[in-house]
Amino acid sequence: MALKIYNTMTRHKEDFVPLQEGKVTMYSCGPTVYNYFHLGNARAFLVPDMVRRYLEYKGYEVKLIINITDIEDKIINKANELGVSSEVVAKEYTEAYLEDSKNLGIRPATVQPKATEHIPEIIALVQTLLDKGVAYEVDGDVYYSVKKFNGYGKLSGRDLDDMHAVARVEVDERKDDPADFALWKRSKLGEPAWDSPWGKGRPGWHIECSAMAMKYLGETIDIHAGGADLIFPHHENEIAQSEVATGKPFANYWFHWAFLQVGGRRMGKSEQNFLFVRDALKKYRPEAIRHFLLSAHYRHPLDYTEENIVQASNASKRIHNCINTLRRLSTSEEVELEKLSEEGKQLYESVGVMREQFEAAMDDDFNTAGAIGAIFELVGQANAFVSENEGKFSEQSKALLGYVHENLVELCDVLGIYSADSGLERQDTELVNSLMDLLLEIRQDARAKKDWSTADKIRDKLKEFNIILKDTREGVVWEFGAS
Ligand code: AMP
Ligand code: ZN
Repeated sequence: MALKIYNTMTRHKEDFVPLQEGKVTMYSCGPTVYNYFHLGNARAFLVPDMVRRYLEYKGYEVKLIINITDIEDKIINKANELGVSSEVVAKEYTEAYLEDSKNLGIRPATVQPKATEHIPEIIALVQTLLDKGVAYEVDGDVYYSVKKFNGYGKLSGRDLDDMHAVARVEVDERKDDPADFALWKRSKLGEPAWDSPWGKGRPGWHIECSAMAMKYLGETIDIHAGGADLIFPHHENEIAQSEVATGKPFANYWFHWAFLQVGGRRMGKSEQNFLFVRDALKKYRPEAIRHFLLSAHYRHPLDYTEENIVQASNASKRIHNCINTLRRLSTSEEVELEKLSEEGKQLYESVGVMREQFEAAMDDDFNTAGAIGAIFELVGQANAFVSENEGKFSEQSKALLGYVHENLVELCDVLGIYSADSGLERQDTELVNSLMDLLLEIRQDARAKKDWSTADKIRDKLKEFNIILKDTREGVVWEFGAS
């Protein structure tokens, strides 16, 4: 079946046909690195990862670019607050972003270009827009004149009046039109600055994506992705810049996901309702977080509540337990269908049905909720087969369980919701933390009563498990010793 993708530009689900057979180019707008990323941002990094994995599953060679915005007002403001340079802020949070993404099981994009490393390409693009007469310079700032691009507003469906209403809040005398946007900003004293034909300055936000997308993926890309908040003005501006520069469509499929919400409001840094991914990872396994974030279709808002994530975590544990049981019981022998019992044959067929349902759901604009549903269907049947036949598995049944295991692992891997090496260990993290708290409390009580033998026994026994206790100003803490 053909893959269908909802295209924000046409407001329709369309058959996906890449420009080059067998290959897909995809650009997704990445983070501005001025803070850690929260679960809402995680949806923004996880959805492109899922799309890429499924396209690869379908046999495409995918080139995915996710940029890193390492120069921007928010970074400069944070640097000023902290009294450090914006490079320091950008470096720290770029590293944190890469680390948290890795811990969440997000595969690194093919290229993760930084704006500050593409200043020559950005300047060249701004110059092209000036040469084409759609941009103008005022005292070292360069603006894009939105009136000069006929297609302005085609992605968001807004007209200039709407845009004026939005832009009114920040009326700038120097602009010809309030909806014009900055391509290049003259830098103020102490701000990071690069030499340019218009004096020392720095790029505006929108231009970096046009420059980097075209550098790595060519003038027209297959899929351009981002959060729904980026449709206007960011993507509208990217289109204006790129299409005037090249005279070609910038992207064939515009792909946007809805927000992760808290009580109906977007999870966001400005809302103070966020949970950093690095904090979430202390409580939940990465597969549980991924399971939660993929449990709704990407175009539907998803509500974050403790209950929802715990529910997803439990669902994820059910998948883990089933896969681990299958691994324990199975062999990798070939299945000989004719030698299977009736229920064995049924289970064998269910694997084919799961794959069909999984692919039908994913082909329908990446319906991950449906895909997870298909996986659960098979998990249920595999569990029933195992409990009915426990203790009396024939060699053929074991081979069958190996076949079910292999298929479940493969499809779970497309969503990144199962990982053999992190599953059971991390599943117990919460429990280990609580038990350690209890042990430390008992040891503290013992010490208070001068019961040194109990206190020492706890410390020495823990050491045998490679857990080391340390005295700090905050009290006693524990950590795993070097193994
Ligand atoms: P930022 O670093 O805030 O510019 O955001 C980086 C990416 O995260 C962008 O693609 C945003 O669209 C996306 N994003 C921010 N908040 C949310 C949210 N609550 N749900 C989904 N995506 C979000
Ligand atoms: Zn962008």
